[in-house]
Amino acid sequence: MLSGKVALVTGGSRGMGAAIAHRLASDGADVVLTYVNDEQSARQVATAIGELGRRALAIKADSAEPEAIVAAVRRAASEFGRLDILVNNAGIFGERPLGELTVAEIDRMLAIHVRAALLAAQTTAEYLGEGGRIISIGSNLAERVTGPGITLYATSKAALLGMTKGLARDLGPRGITANVVHPGSTDTDMNPANGPAAEGQRAITALGRYGHPDDVAATVAHLAGPGGRTITGTAVLVDGGANA
Ligand code: NDP
Repeated sequence: MLSGKVALVTGGSRGMGAAIAHRLASDGADVVLTYVNDEQSARQVATAIGELGRRALAIKADSAEPEAIVAAVRRAASEFGRLDILVNNAGIFGERPLGELTVAEIDRMLAIHVRAALLAAQTTAEYLGEGGRIISIGSNLAERVTGPGITLYATSKAALLGMTKGLARDLGPRGITANVVHPGSTDTDMNPANGPAAEGQRAITALGRYGHPDDVAATVAHLAGPGGRTITGTAVLVDGGANA
């Protein structure tokens, strides 16, 4: 389905990014992934992709650094000869009482979630052709904030919808789509299904359970594949009905 295509997944070393990288490779794409700290996990994901018979490259690139994210996109395109799919996935979580938020914390989260996603999209767009895809990983908290302390995180994830709609208009004439996937509680290092806050999160879902990273990867794969050709400028919730 994706054979001959090249995907770049930011934060592909663990969690959802790793699942997305593996799924896109299973569907036939060669995959470049970025990471910031966990080189060993990044190498393991690249090795697993290699075992599927696909090409993989892991690049250390801190999304908080504008030059690093732009350089990662350019390196992916130059080493693999093309770029077809961008998945803006790298992210951090942070809960903080509103009154305690510092400028440095605000800048860092917006840099990783918003500035890096926009710079990656802008740079990737130089290489994308007809059928190109830009998919960003937001959060169901962008649309429904379930409690105090997550104003900054929700702000940063909600910004991705405005970005996505703008990209859809900017790039639609070239046959390129842009969408945001909003996961709900998904079992990863960031939000383990057996963590201290898990019960409350599970309780607000309609399905009564956490999602698996593969659930998010399956939605990304659909958007990236031929089935996504007419879906653009929108958000897809993969949240077990938490926002229902
Ligand atoms: P994990 O913490 O499990 O993995 C985070 C990934 O992002 C890792 O690969 C990590 O790299 C990478 N990363 C973090 N910071 C940076 C950075 N500055 N530069 C480059 N890469 C970075 O998180 P999840 O898989 O759970 O989250 C993936 C995305 O989904 C995030 O955007 C998150 O906000 C979002 N999300 C998660 C939900 C959940 O319940 N899990 C719910 C809704 C949204 P390294 O391994 O090197 O540290």
